[in-house]
Amino acid sequence: MTILDGKKVSNEILEDLKSKFASLNKKITFAIIWVGNNEASGIYIKNKLKKCEELGIEGKLYHLEEDTTEEEVLELIAKLNNDNNVNGILIQSPLPKPINEVNCFNHVSYKKDVDGFSNISAGNLTLGNPSLISCTPKGIITLLDYYHINLEGKNVCLINRSNIVGKPLFNLLIKRNATVTMCHSKTNNLEDFTKEADIVISAVGRPKFITSDMVKEGSVVIDVGISRVNGKVIGDVDFASVSQKTSYITPVPGGVGPMTIAMIFSNLYEAITKYQDK
Ligand code: NAP
Repeated sequence: MTILDGKKVSNEILEDLKSKFASLNKKITFAIIWVGNNEASGIYIKNKLKKCEELGIEGKLYHLEEDTTEEEVLELIAKLNNDNNVNGILIQSPLPKPINEVNCFNHVSYKKDVDGFSNISAGNLTLGNPSLISCTPKGIITLLDYYHINLEGKNVCLINRSNIVGKPLFNLLIKRNATVTMCHSKTNNLEDFTKEADIVISAVGRPKFITSDMVKEGSVVIDVGISRVNGKVIGDVDFASVSQKTSYITPVPGGVGPMTIAMIFSNLYEAITKYQDK
């Protein structure tokens, strides 16, 4: 059994991006919009700003009050979209209610949409056109590629149908000629699908949701889920037992999570070189 070491792979990717950013020979600015004071968001933002520093780019935080209106957020997004000195825009989720988060994501220019959440980015991905791709799905494919795990003709059981994980990942997988079954909370007899799968990708958010009796011998298991139990981050997969049966498996933490972060900056580089330097 091989552990898919997302931490190691993401470090390599970030190291490579550092020299790529340097070779652009210009100031790069990555804007983060944070509304309110969600504690977890604060930690994620601190980490992203630290990564910016390590990569030699400027991370610029726009921290707005909890009672900021959606119109005010949209105004800021428009300002950043039009600012030629800003190369990438990320809106830290969740935004406080009643702000419509999806509407805000959709207002980020596709040229700076490092999250790949706008309708243009998501639509282009669905149509098989070039686009900036949602970071977690892109990170999973990049990790599988790194370990030379071939997807063509493979049966993939994907447990998630959200806009940020399941749907973009489905599109990336079929592009690679995998046969994908997309499962969700209304799927009957989930284990009938997981047991048949060469690759199981679980993004449910329930600890120990995937048990060893649900996977076949030699399968690949990708654990996207994040739950916090007694201050510890754990995934969907009962790692100790499931890993006895798998050929490859991601740990939590240290699997998909770090890949997601690396892909934000990979998208920033793509945004600059493919959409802005034209
Ligand atoms: P979400 O929108 O809540 O999606 C959860 C998915 O799980 C939904 O499609 C849901 O089905 C399905 N589900 C729930 N209970 C189920 C059950 N009993 N059987 C089968 N499917 C079930 O959440 P999300 O934003 O996509 O994130 C999913 C998980 O991934 C969370 O734990 C999140 O923290 C984690 N995540 C991790 C990263 C990372 O970088 N590692 C990035 C993003 C998300 P329905 O559609 O029917 O509700």
